[in-house]
Amino acid sequence: MNAPPRKLSLEEWDGRYDQLRRDGLREPAYGGPLRRHVVRENDFRLQQLRFDNSPAALRLWNFLLTENERLHQARAAGHKIVGTMKDLGTVPVMAYALPGVRAFYPDGAWWTPCLMECSDKLLQQAERSGIDASFCPVRAMLPAFENGRHFPRPDLLVCSAGAICDDFSTIAQRLEHLGYPIFWWEIPRRRHPDFGEIACPLPGNLAAPKTQVDCVRAELQRVGQALAELAGENLDDDCLAAGIRAANQVRQRLDSLRRLVYSAPAAPLPALEMLVAEMLAIHFCSDRDETIAVLDDLLAEVQSRARRGQFVLGPQAARIFWVNPVADLRAMNLLEELGGRLCGSDFMFTHALDLIPENLPPLEALARAALADPMIGPASDRAARIVRECQAGRAEAVVVSRIPGASHCAREGEIILEMVRRQAGIPAIELEIPPVSDAMRPSLASRLQALVETAQARRSH
Ligand code: SF4
Repeated sequence: MNAPPRKLSLEEWDGRYDQLRRDGLREPAYGGPLRRHVVRENDFRLQQLRFDNSPAALRLWNFLLTENERLHQARAAGHKIVGTMKDLGTVPVMAYALPGVRAFYPDGAWWTPCLMECSDKLLQQAERSGIDASFCPVRAMLPAFENGRHFPRPDLLVCSAGAICDDFSTIAQRLEHLGYPIFWWEIPRRRHPDFGEIACPLPGNLAAPKTQVDCVRAELQRVGQALAELAGENLDDDCLAAGIRAANQVRQRLDSLRRLVYSAPAAPLPALEMLVAEMLAIHFCSDRDETIAVLDDLLAEVQSRARRGQFVLGPQAARIFWVNPVADLRAMNLLEELGGRLCGSDFMFTHALDLIPENLPPLEALARAALADPMIGPASDRAARIVRECQAGRAEAVVVSRIPGASHCAREGEIILEMVRRQAGIPAIELEIPPVSDAMRPSLASRLQALVETAQARRSH
């Protein structure tokens, strides 16, 4: 089964899958050929993507693409379903600490127009509800709730308020008016502690005033009570501490994977699979134990490739640090087709990758983790981390992929580009990538190509 690493089209994966089955491939219950997601779920975009050829990548994709199906099965088995919105990484840690509770991000509908190549018409339906293209692709979430064809209706909807973007705030409020009650909890915009103020260190080399940490801890306590009531269980400190330890197991594996892949002399795993793997951190793709198993397989594959000196891209590929998730997954393929590779990433949820402190009372630790969200503090904090990671990962260039319509920070990209150019001294560009970017492919390709060539040309100086 150990074929040399290569990227395959969906068609090539058909043959590879048959061969793996003949060779005795064993799969989890959600396994199967990738093509079925096109046939059953209309995930047409898969036909345009290139996938890693390992069984570990097959498992990763099947895990990702069966999430809605697995959520429906969990509901049928009597599990409680919690829709957690916006905090990207904290409330799910609490939810999975309770038996019989599954948490997911309805925000994940962000990618549905891409996967289904807009055949679902979610964006048009959002438009009819008054949420037009001046909002980011998260607007797909609104009709996804209404038509019920994607994820099951949650038993409880939890959403953070305060330091969140206008897009999400508006859409979540619209959702509530449509009859989906939301349990709101507040998180303040993170600020640097003032002189003389008691400061608390946060994951990710950040700090916040103790008053902010206390405020978030109290809010998370309310969230915990709501979750416990839903589950009919007690969510005490022991239970939360066990949940944090389990979440950290996921984060440790992701840390090992990112270190190995991003620091290797050549890329042992493609950029697209790295994006998908990192996304597992935010809510474990609705199954925490399986997330650990999926990551173990990926890690074993990458370790084995590194030992064998086999890579999907050679050492000549330009080392690119990528900022923000891409609305069109195909953009990650495009980067590699043009001679680039990932050497680091900030997909907007770095706080879900950092270890949650285990030496603090659990709610305090979770409050600090929530406040480390890169999207709720100054853009310069986010940019400073990107610069540090560019330097550590020997990045040769940075791409900030702008999200169409996103209001999270009008000047954020500019601030990041400026700090990267000034402090890391490497070229950086900003690109806007829509959910289906085919029409813009020539211009995206020429800008990416120019960046890759510039990065490579600088090597000789
Ligand atoms: S505006 Fe930005 S932060 Fe808000 S939902 Fe869209 S992508 Fe996410």
